[in-house]
Amino acid sequence: MKREFAVIGLGRFGGSICHELSKEGMDVLAIDLDEDKVNEFKNIASHAVIADTTDEKVLKEIGIRNIDHVIVAIGDNIQASILTTLMLKELGIKKITVKAQNDYHEKVLRKIGADQVVHPERDMGKRIAHSIISNNILDHLELSDDHSIVEVKAGKKMSGRSLIDLDIRAQYGCNVVAIKKDKEINVSPMATVVIEDGDVLIVIGSDIDISRFEKNLV
Ligand code: ADP
Repeated sequence: MKREFAVIGLGRFGGSICHELSKEGMDVLAIDLDEDKVNEFKNIASHAVIADTTDEKVLKEIGIRNIDHVIVAIGDNIQASILTTLMLKELGIKKITVKAQNDYHEKVLRKIGADQVVHPERDMGKRIAHSIISNNILDHLELSDDHSIVEVKAGKKMSGRSLIDLDIRAQYGCNVVAIKKDKEINVSPMATVVIEDGDVLIVIGSDIDISRFEKNLV
């Protein structure tokens, strides 16, 4: 099913979103102030236009009101990002996703009604930091300020032991929500499942509990 998206700001982040949505067959309107950027996306997105999105008249002219979901990926210009978001909100766009540069920017964006605020650099930094701590931590996804999901590779400490035996929930307050063995994924593992070297566990919990789990078992 095709859905209408618009990406405003075709830098590294917005450009990558635009590429990926187009690759998935979505209908994407690519927008930037910069003519070279727009030309670059002419053959990638369904449509590409040069526009300054801080101007309400311009937004109306390019038909932004017909778009279901707009992604605001304006980089360093926080003022332009906020103004654009405000205007999109006033025009009644159903879903607005905005890239924030810092926590203050995020606060303002949430106040003016952005539906989703993302911090790609901060979040990627956190994920990479976790994978640097241990080679066995494959991924880390933040659920809230103090809860996460981690993907960890089972090593010797867990190998040959069942979930009951490891007693992860009681000992560390975390839940193993899935276990991947080669290509198979068990999404509600029984407590009797025996973990083998190289299995991948998906664990959910508070950051404090996950950190204790990682220190002791990973
Ligand atoms: P990144 O950090 O993702 O690479 P950049 O700052 O390089 O982000 O890119 C942001 C893009 O947003 C630039 O291509 C810039 O031309 C565009 N941009 C900035 N202000 C506006 C605006 N008012 N209207 C439309 N596009 C804008």
